[in-house]
Amino acid sequence: MSYTKANITKRKFDVVIVGAGGAGLRAALELSRSGLNVACLTKVFPTRSHTVAAQGGVSASLGNMSEDNWHYHFYDTVKGGDWLGDQDAIEFMCREAPNVVIELEHFGMPFDRNPDGTIYQRPFGGHTSNYGEKPVQRACAAADRTGHAMLHTLYQQNVRTKTNFFVEWMALDLIRNTQGDVIGVTALELETGDFYELHAKAVLLATGGAGRIFAATTNAYINTGDGLGMASRAGIPLQDMEFWQFHPTGVFGAGVLLTEGCRGEGAILLNSEGERFMERYAPTLKDLAPRDFVSRSMDQEIKEGRGCGPNKDHILLKLDHLGAETIHKRLPSVEEIGHNFANVDITKEPIGVVPTIHYMMGGIPTNIHGQVVVWDGQQNQVVSGLYAVGECSAVSVHGANRLGTNSLLDLLVFGKSAGKHITEYVRGYGEHHDAPADASDYSLSRLNKLQDSTDGLYSQDVAGKLRTTMQTHAGVFRTQKMLDEGVEMVKGIAEEVEHIALKDKSLVWNTARMEALEVENLIEVARATIASAAARKECRGAHMVYDYEHPADHPQFPLGRNDEEWLKHTLWYRDGDRLDYKPVNLKPLSVDSIPPKVRTF
Ligand SMILES: Cc1cc2nc3c(=O)[nH]c(=O)nc-3n(C[C@H](O)[C@H](O)[C@H](O)COP(=O)(O)OP(=O)(O)OC[C@H]3O[C@@H](n4cnc5c(N)ncnc54)[C@H](O)[C@@H]3O)c2cc1C
Repeated sequence: MSYTKANITKRKFDVVIVGAGGAGLRAALELSRSGLNVACLTKVFPTRSHTVAAQGGVSASLGNMSEDNWHYHFYDTVKGGDWLGDQDAIEFMCREAPNVVIELEHFGMPFDRNPDGTIYQRPFGGHTSNYGEKPVQRACAAADRTGHAMLHTLYQQNVRTKTNFFVEWMALDLIRNTQGDVIGVTALELETGDFYELHAKAVLLATGGAGRIFAATTNAYINTGDGLGMASRAGIPLQDMEFWQFHPTGVFGAGVLLTEGCRGEGAILLNSEGERFMERYAPTLKDLAPRDFVSRSMDQEIKEGRGCGPNKDHILLKLDHLGAETIHKRLPSVEEIGHNFANVDITKEPIGVVPTIHYMMGGIPTNIHGQVVVWDGQQNQVVSGLYAVGECSAVSVHGANRLGTNSLLDLLVFGKSAGKHITEYVRGYGEHHDAPADASDYSLSRLNKLQDSTDGLYSQDVAGKLRTTMQTHAGVFRTQKMLDEGVEMVKGIAEEVEHIALKDKSLVWNTARMEALEVENLIEVARATIASAAARKECRGAHMVYDYEHPADHPQFPLGRNDEEWLKHTLWYRDGDRLDYKPVNLKPLSVDSIPPKVRTF
């Protein structure tokens, strides 16, 4: 059977949200509370979205346990992001943080408590008090299951407000009318294989990260960058895609995450000589320096022959000195992960860790209302009807390197803000706009190409090749040569994606079809990443290229940042791998700008 226009079912909603992670659910809650008819699509049951895996915490300068205020948080986030973050968005997020976290508490979030009843807060990488003076306790935590608690809380609230969930549905492409307004999405119902056009006054993309473009990642299997694929196929650029965060402590050999909360609670990193080497690299913050810093330092230790194990290829994370009682109470999942993935009892011995791909700083460009924007050479132009929030978006608060716990915060702040803006937008909208007659043609042709294929490549082989290529050519340390080679290799793999064949053509729960469609999204994310990275000829945040590293007296510090030429956001367009750039907004909303300076910790 081929997909034809005769098989299309059409439905209308006020708003379609693609994604039911923290970002999608926070926005959905705002919208359904204001009485709009909201459809929320998700590939998996909402509470299985990757947000559920977040361990360490959500940041807010509540100051429950040490002196804090949003100005410190603002400063840390600007500096943590190596000045690539937009300071208006960062101010907005850090000021809103206490409000959205307390609001979440009132929604029923089971935070850990201090004896006086206030929310428990732990230190986290790069979060400081008094502008870098010492670590601060800012990460609001529910043991090491903060994302789990948050996602369940938000889901329950959405059940209460009657959000319509479309569970195990996969959105395929955006529908735009002749004026370029976004007026819906095409989607597959996975259970039946049926094809739908979902018409809406506004569409919100909240599809999460895309860590699955790499071979070793802390990300879930569903994190394939579908929203980025949808946006780029619709002609919208992707921003700052060269910036991928390596989390310092993925379990060696397994990739599963051990939260930075471990180091927040006092765990330390050791090299083969038993040395706490972070004291050398970051004398003030030590093991709690930002992630790009710690990952690079670990890699440096391994390169210089001080890695652990028979192959000297990993670092040790030592927790036993925290005491079994603290570990049971504050880090129960980490203890479990140690047993299950490394056969290590962390209450007694150190566990092997390596930097592992964790988070995508770039994404679909938006403003602080979640509206998707395209730079016209002079200013940002809004794409009417399209919004994006969460990890798939770049607002951009994380700049070139995200601080831990700022992502869960980003979901809450911008999910809420987009929800508010969409409510107003939909109220002033009037009737649904007519969809063009060819609204589904593109998606149907993609589906039928697979459906009609007879002989070709297996999608998982192509995906596997892509992942190893990205791992080798866009890792913690990059060289210009590796990146240039990577660009050519990814181009070759993009050709292979064109030749993927589907052997099983059945409709009901055909996961092979879903995986083949996901690869078409992975390739767009990988193309954007490698092209943007090869073009950025400096070191900034997570983008570390040996060729541009300053040869000065501190080879371990990325002094190769070149603000004169590169203090700007990258924009990648799918057509012809075209790159464009736009200025970073260094002007906050109400306070003084924090001018770029050398980043030491
Ligand atoms: C292991 C781990 C631990 C982390 N710990 C922390 C932490 O402690 N603190 C912190 O701040 N951050 C943490 N992060 C980062 C943070 O959790 C994520 O950035 C954030 O949860 C992403 O939320 P999201 O709502 O954008 O996307 P997700 O939670 O990934 O949700 C994406 C949603 O989109 C849906 N979707 C995707 N594609 C489609 C499609 N085509 N059609 C329909 N639906 C689709 C999925 O089904 C899912 O519902 C962690 C990340 C990981 C991987």
